[in-house]
Amino acid sequence: WEQLSRRVDAHSNYVQMAATIAHEVRNPMTSVRGFLQLLAKDLKGDVQQMYLHVMQTEIDRMNAILTEYLSMARPVQELEWEPIDLASLIRETFLVLEGEANYRGVLLELNLEETHSIEGNARELKQVLINLVRNAFDAIEGPSGRIEIRLRNGVIEVADNGCGMTLEQIERIFEPFFTTKATGTGLGLPVCRKIVETHRGTLEVMSAVEVGTVFTIRF
Ligand code: ADP
Repeated sequence: WEQLSRRVDAHSNYVQMAATIAHEVRNPMTSVRGFLQLLAKDLKGDVQQMYLHVMQTEIDRMNAILTEYLSMARPVQELEWEPIDLASLIRETFLVLEGEANYRGVLLELNLEETHSIEGNARELKQVLINLVRNAFDAIEGPSGRIEIRLRNGVIEVADNGCGMTLEQIERIFEPFFTTKATGTGLGLPVCRKIVETHRGTLEVMSAVEVGTVFTIRF
């Protein structure tokens, strides 16, 4: 027991240290990004502009990685817990995503059979739904894309008719940093799973190539 608890302590110290570094590194990065933006105004050449653009998008990606890492490392007890009505939470999330769905020409639908209440943190749970729907947006190519958020018996499903995944992909999607996207961080799904698990729930996936994907959250 002693050995085990020492190991757990050491682990949480490392997580804490990494979170502190992640947090501190963001400030200088923000200032570098600001100066790159100023430089972009003065530089005339197309090639230089292209280099600056790449630098800015790479800084944005570093920022996204750090933000997602920080939400993964945040201790559970820092979260504010409150009663949450899942149907209302889904409707609020829908409002955030509706514009993006229209812009992308994707049909985003709700199918809420009932209302169901749990204890949790609304902001974090919304983040989970937003991540899942944004991944579904990315999976949809061409017209007739459709995403449905369902709620039945306290089970939430986010289903899409996008490109789907192979077995090899399915096995790896919850690994930190696994991504098939050029500008992905590979932290979205690990963060989603961590948030759902801190709510004493599970996050599972079912998917078939060229058919689509369903993510299921059970509380
Ligand atoms: P990221 O979106 O930055 O790549 P994620 O952890 O959110 O990171 O997702 C990891 C990978 O899982 C994605 O790169 C993609 O290959 C796959 N994926 C996630 N959601 C879907 C989906 N709805 N349809 C197909 N593939 C998906």
